[in-house]
Amino acid sequence: MSTVATPLSHAGASEHPCAAAGATPLERARVGLDSCVHCGFCLQACPTYLSLEDENDSPRGRLVLMRAVVDGRVALDDPDVATHLSRCLGCRGCESACPSGVPYGHLLEAARETLAAKKPLPLLARAILWVFARPGVLRVALWFGRMARDTGIAGELARLPGALGFPFAMLASTARAAAPDWTPRAARTRATVATLDGCVMEGLFTGVNRATERVLAANGYSLCAAPGQQCCGALHIHAGDAATARELARANIAAFEASGATFVATNSAGCGAMMKEYGQLLASEPAWRDRARAFSTKVRDASELLAEAGPVIGAPLPRRITYDAPCHLEHAQKLSAPPLQVLAAIPSLEHVPLDDREQCCGSAGIFNLIEPDVSERVLAAKMRCISATNAPVVATGNPGCLMQIGAGLWREGRGAVARHPIELLDESYAKREG
Ligand code: SF4
Ligand code: SF4
Repeated sequence: MSTVATPLSHAGASEHPCAAAGATPLERARVGLDSCVHCGFCLQACPTYLSLEDENDSPRGRLVLMRAVVDGRVALDDPDVATHLSRCLGCRGCESACPSGVPYGHLLEAARETLAAKKPLPLLARAILWVFARPGVLRVALWFGRMARDTGIAGELARLPGALGFPFAMLASTARAAAPDWTPRAARTRATVATLDGCVMEGLFTGVNRATERVLAANGYSLCAAPGQQCCGALHIHAGDAATARELARANIAAFEASGATFVATNSAGCGAMMKEYGQLLASEPAWRDRARAFSTKVRDASELLAEAGPVIGAPLPRRITYDAPCHLEHAQKLSAPPLQVLAAIPSLEHVPLDDREQCCGSAGIFNLIEPDVSERVLAAKMRCISATNAPVVATGNPGCLMQIGAGLWREGRGAVARHPIELLDESYAKREG
């Protein structure tokens, strides 16, 4: 594997436009940068390094680059800064591999926020983020998405080659047969829970949201409504739009506080990771700091609540599946076991272990739309591992992963599908009740 020893070659520039970098989010994150000892243990955990074989596209290389910007040795508006930072998936696989505890995810967010203040995001990224911050507009956009999917238009357009057809394959892969019709039996109430609807989850995976509510109720969780909730802001913070992320966080904190629920549950790994970090996101706002910290302690992935409850065992589903770990469950939330405990509550399910299950699939929020070439390379490695299992079902608990892997499977054409682990448990419970 060829590598470039020193990221970029601009060290020594006498004048640099980032001389005032002391005031930037990246400069404020300097302590995190200092904790990297350049050991390289993270390299083999990095999907972009493995795919592109360039040290500049590794965690260590990107950290050296960030450091060079902070020290004024590389200009913030150097095109290579944007190139290598935008090629990062933000999967945080490097954090799990790092013996020094480098907070890579936060450093990346700080770097992108700093960069976004200097260089606007690409038009497509700005348009997507604009829509996601406006619930009314988003509802209309997702309605068109469902129409394209349900009329078969998305399936037809998915045949377009390469990156042109890929978003339509993602959309086509969200189609589901009618949800099982069953009602959870009244169980002893363990706790009250308000669920995050989520933008893409409620818009394109409505059945999975209803399945999550049924399965939580069957395990003793009493559901509370939380009107006024919005997008969690994960897409925005990952792209460097921290101001919008903070705005959305404040709206969500107020909405879930008003629900009075003990827990805030989500079936989306990315949204859960984001909401668990609202405390850090709003740490500099005295009016919100304590509320944000209290909110974050209540957030749970739905699989955590189910694992805590047992969960109740369903009816047998004799099916071969494999499980792919969403990065924001595995690396950001450090939750490896709970999704497997959800699947273990389904008798007769044959679980074939997936090689490199903890490696990113290449979805990463809107990464697959704005960096399609890198995303495709990363997905190709994932699809090779999935094909080796010969499993007709890939279970994974995040909408981005469901759509990315779902599109990969759709294009393979062998009839395999991606499903949320809770969808499978819901089916198993429905069979037991039926
Ligand atoms: S990020 Fe961690 S694992 Fe990677 S080079 Fe730095 S200290 Fe080593
Ligand atoms: S977040 Fe993922 S893609 Fe980015 S440097 Fe870390 S391991 Fe590599």
